Amino acid sequence: MARESAVGGHPDDVLRVRNLTTRFHTSEGQINAVESVDFDVRDGEVFGVVGESGSGKSVTALSVIDLVDSPGRVVEGEVWYRDADLAEEFRGSDPDAVDGDFVDVRRLPTGVRRALRGPAFSTVFQDPMSSLNPSLTVGEQIAEAVEVQRRARANPRRTRSRTQGYGLGRFLVDSLLPNRSYASESSHSRAVELLEQVGIPDPAERAEEYPHQFSGGMLQRAMIAQALAGEPDVLVADEPTTALDVTIQAQILDLLRDLQEEEGMSVVLITHDLGVIARMCSRVGVMYAGEIVERGTLADVFESPVHPYTEGLLGSIPDLEDPAPRLRPIEGNVPSLLDSEMGDRCYFADRCPRAMHDCLTRIPEYDVAEGTDEHAARCVLAEREYDQADALPADYFEADDPTAGPADGVTDDDATGGSVVGEEVSTDD
Ligand code: SF4
Repeated sequence: MARESAVGGHPDDVLRVRNLTTRFHTSEGQINAVESVDFDVRDGEVFGVVGESGSGKSVTALSVIDLVDSPGRVVEGEVWYRDADLAEEFRGSDPDAVDGDFVDVRRLPTGVRRALRGPAFSTVFQDPMSSLNPSLTVGEQIAEAVEVQRRARANPRRTRSRTQGYGLGRFLVDSLLPNRSYASESSHSRAVELLEQVGIPDPAERAEEYPHQFSGGMLQRAMIAQALAGEPDVLVADEPTTALDVTIQAQILDLLRDLQEEEGMSVVLITHDLGVIARMCSRVGVMYAGEIVERGTLADVFESPVHPYTEGLLGSIPDLEDPAPRLRPIEGNVPSLLDSEMGDRCYFADRCPRAMHDCLTRIPEYDVAEGTDEHAARCVLAEREYDQADALPADYFEADDPTAGPADGVTDDDATGGSVVGEEVSTDD
């Protein structure tokens, strides 16, 4: 089911993700968590990825930063990262891993890939309480991140955190010398600086406290400080405000924005909240069922959406200036991502108010909207007008398994795009 990438390059790109595909192999079968995802991130921009829970946003982030765990596996695709020095280093030995100043991170040796985590990519997870170690002080954990980056810079192929390769020897040393710190004094000082940079008051004292002594907002600030330890080019923030109350959410978003501008970082912001996207992002990708179904600038996607799923998301936002109209929820649920149940059709068809027979005959490719070079959607409506005569009957998906074949009373023509159907359903009106 691999598809050609439809995303070109831009001179300001720092990251180009192409055809990224991640599968999970479970006892129930193969789950297509991320399917041929393409997007670019430019220097100093905030690129948003938005979608419902279960749409594949977080697995996409983990796939980009090479943190997908078993039973998941990135099975296909490229993650091109701009680094002229690395490109020069690998140009001779693995030319397929190099394109101009870009290297395909997935083709690099494990040690080099690991060393890129920190200075190239860093991440902020959505639940800071479960992301920090409760038995170590906050300062020690940030200092460890700083220390790992320092050691990585000194020897990129031997980057190890405290817990990697933790064997009997390390256990005995840690047991006999419990106060021996993994991180140097200078790494601890840098940790305090980072806590100060993210707005923690009395950072030197707070660095000595444990995660349970921090509030939710402070913990998220500490997580951001840890993510900044390597001075990353690209920060992946996965629902960084989901676990926080509204006022703290606003503070964390302001902090991210300020840090992004100060440090000149690029940010990939993953969220289910269109308000966060509108506030923070310059360009956006809308995810559904493991695919980016629409992408473009904020104005493209918010003002001229093409994909009915994007329209549905926008239609479900309350309008504070005119709260009278009822919200229009998107009916139905995110579909199963089990390979055996997905089929070669538009995955949104069973929830789409404008589904046509044509939508069931293929998986739509990206099509770029007229008058723009980057507003694109995976929807037949990007290539052709909606045709009422070709519309699916309202109860089409109420049949037990409509994708397996025509339901009782529906002729073959109905399932393959014809307009003649049985007695009970008709598309002629
Ligand atoms: S391809 Fe068809 S079913 Fe899918 S979103 Fe577009 S119009 Fe709806």
